[in-house]
Amino acid sequence: MPASSYDSKTSILFFKIIMKDRLPRERKTIRVMINLFCRDNHADRGKAPAALCDECRELLGYAMKRIERCSYGEEKPTCANCPIHCYKLDRREQVRSVMRYAGPRMIRRHPVLAIRHLIDGKTNHGPPRPSKRKT
Ligand code: SF4
Ligand SMILES: [Zn+2]
Repeated sequence: MPASSYDSKTSILFFKIIMKDRLPRERKTIRVMINLFCRDNHADRGKAPAALCDECRELLGYAMKRIERCSYGEEKPTCANCPIHCYKLDRREQVRSVMRYAGPRMIRRHPVLAIRHLIDGKTNHGPPRPSKRKT
């Protein structure tokens, strides 16, 4: 087999492995990050491990809806690499605060999720805008 053919097949296989379960993983990552942020910063959350305060629960619901309605569908980039930025300004600021706080802590508390999210960010650099938007 010529080297170039082998290289392209390897790249496709690598891409498929990277993209596998991308959206469920993204949902899980944002849920974990908001939970981590809320647990350390908001006293008014419930006692259950996954409990969130009202503000964070709303933010999580909003983020889940954005992922569900994302114009890119299965090929969704990480939101940080997205040329559309469909979040409302105040929601974007909220998510930034969550990321700033939870991002560095993810490596210690959820290393696999953190590394896969980093790889997702590095392997999908802002695709062009899709022609039809669902948002
Ligand atoms: S359109 Fe962009 S910002 Fe909105 S959910 Fe999709 S990737 Fe994230
Ligand atoms: Zn909270």
